[in-house]
Formats: sequence, structure tokens, C-alpha cells
Amino acid sequence: MAVSSPEISSILTPHPRLTDSHGRIIHDLRVSITDRCNYKCVYCRTGEMGAQYPELGIDEYLRLIKLFVSLGISKVRLTGGEPLLRRGLVDLVRQLSALPTLTGGPLDLALTTNGHLLDELAAPLKAAGLNRVTVSMDAVDAPTFERITHVPGSFQTVLAGIRAARAAGLTPLKINCVLLRGFNDSQIEGFARFAREENVVVRFIEFMPLEEGRLWTPEIVVPLAEIVARIGRLLPLVKLPPREASETAQRYTFKDGVGEIGIIAPVSQAFCGACSRVRLTSDGKIRTCLFSQVEHDLYGRLRSGETNAELRTYILRTVQEKEARHHMGEPGFLKPSRSMVHIGG
Ligand code: SAM
Repeated sequence: MAVSSPEISSILTPHPRLTDSHGRIIHDLRVSITDRCNYKCVYCRTGEMGAQYPELGIDEYLRLIKLFVSLGISKVRLTGGEPLLRRGLVDLVRQLSALPTLTGGPLDLALTTNGHLLDELAAPLKAAGLNRVTVSMDAVDAPTFERITHVPGSFQTVLAGIRAARAAGLTPLKINCVLLRGFNDSQIEGFARFAREENVVVRFIEFMPLEEGRLWTPEIVVPLAEIVARIGRLLPLVKLPPREASETAQRYTFKDGVGEIGIIAPVSQAFCGACSRVRLTSDGKIRTCLFSQVEHDLYGRLRSGETNAELRTYILRTVQEKEARHHMGEPGFLKPSRSMVHIGG
């Protein structure tokens, strides 16, 4: 399904912008295009559950994403599960990259991947119009990495994927590392060196209670302050100013300006007040927060024949009710019914 001129004008026709009742403007959409994954990262999947939810057709994702873009979404991140497993991905990227946005520029199109298939897909994805990629990598030494992913040989495969992405121009290249005390907190200094040597932005993410199993405790989370202190002992860090209010990472460079470290601290320093994001699951449900207790069945409405105008009204109303904040770590906190891999990280 190519993006036709009437569709482009329908996106550019003035519609209300997505906002919520807490005064936040929503311009960032994460779309999961599968909840299948080829890794079994110890903090994410048990490996026993497999895929839990159906996938939509590529044309159906495209139609739903266009509705969001017509309401002011200017940044789309494709994720999963593992999005590179999804047949039709390159075509989806090609069609999305042709969409105009209400801000006048093209859509900012990014993807999060474990990097396993990136060596072969980086160049086709770049040619199709993908702007940037984030690769998840939880250790810089092969034995620790493979103890986490449970896939022999995966460290070298992902490293090749990272280098292919850089060569293809999918930059700035970000590496996401989820730190767990006792599993991979030994890697902090190694990642600081890796950021400088490989010319990548390394972002440490605090572990959230979104795993399939039961691993999360407050003690297993390695907080931002500890990461900054440890890297600072290796080489002095300089804090960088935020580029936009909704930026999730606190950014640092080294005193000599070489390399960048980011820390995403949803547990120890929540940033819900500036959240600009909503999510669409692989089966077409809107989630207005990672920790939402309710999901909103957008695809069900599309299937039942609602018009684009009706679907837009539904999206606007749903996003208005976005939660003020998460309640992670508070008494009475309830884990959402889906784990990260089934929501779309
Ligand atoms: N398969 C892709 C990947 O590996 O990047 C995309 C999906 S994965 C669920 C997206 C991101 O969520 C990864 O960076 C992963 O490390 C992160 N993640 C998974 N479970 C998490 C948790 N409980 N807390 C924080 N981040 C988590």
C-alpha cells in the first residue's frame, strides 16, 4: 500500500493535536510489530511463554500509524519483541519514511533491536528511510553477554550488527544497557570505554518490574547516582543540557568531549511529568503508559469498520486519559498484565 496524495492531504488536514488532561503534548509513538523474540534475556523473557499476541498486517500498522501522525505524532519508534524478525519491516519503513508530519518535516523514524539480524538489515533499512537505531546490549564481554541472552555466539553477531549500522549511517547509534546488580553491574566501566572506542552513545536503563518472571526487587536496580559516581572515578564526567523537555536520558560526556553516556532512570528519578509518549502493541491496543492497567482496542474498532474520523476521535479521547505517572516501587503497585517484550519496549 503506497502513500497516496489524498492520504498525504488527509494527514496534513488540520485535526486537533494529541494532548492529555495533564497538559502534556504527545508527539512520540512506539509501535510493537511483533512480540516474538529470538533472545531470552534473563531480565526480560523466561523463554517459556513465546509470543502471546497476534500480529497485524503491515498495511494495518501503516493505517493506524498514519492516524496518529495526522494527530501530531512526529516521532515513531518500531520495536517488539524483536522487530527485525518481522517480515515486511523494510517495506513498512519505506512507507513510513514518506509520511509528512504536522511540524512540516519528515517523520523521525527509529527502531530498537537486539541487533542479531542487523548485519544484513542495516543497509536495506537505511535505504528504506530509517533514521536511527538503538541496539540493546547488556555486556561488553562475550561470556557475560551470552549468559544474559542465552544465545551462544550472540556477542560477536551483535557487535557486527552495531558496526554495520554505523557503516550504513544509522547514526547517532545508541546502545541500551539494562543494569542488574549481581548480573552485569561489573560492566559499567567497560561500557564507558566502549562508548569512546566505538563512537556510540551508551545509555544505561534502570531495571523496571516488567519482566516475564519474578526478578525485580528495589535492591537489584542500579540507580543513576551510583552509575555516575563509578564512571566519574574512571574519567571525569560533564553533564550535558537536555535537548528537549521530554528527553528521557540524563546525558553526560567525558571531560575531553569524547563519547557520550546517558542514564534513563525511571525508577530512581521518574520523568513522567515530561512524558510525550504513547504505545501501540503488536495486536493494535493503545497503551498510554508502560504501567497502564487498561488497554484500548484501536484495532478492534478498525476491524469493525469505523471510519478514520471515528478512529481519530477514539485516539484523541483515549490519550486525554493518559495516566499522570507510574507508581513503581510504591505500596500497592500492580505489575501490568503484559511484560515489556509483549508491550514493546
Ligand atoms: N528486541 C528489541 C531489543 O532487544 O531492543 C526490542 C524490544 S526490548 C523489550 C526493548 C528494550 O527494553 C531493550 O533495550 C531491553 O533491554 C529493554 N527492557 C526489557 N525489559 C526491561 C525491564 N524490565 N526494564 C527496563 N528495560 C527493559
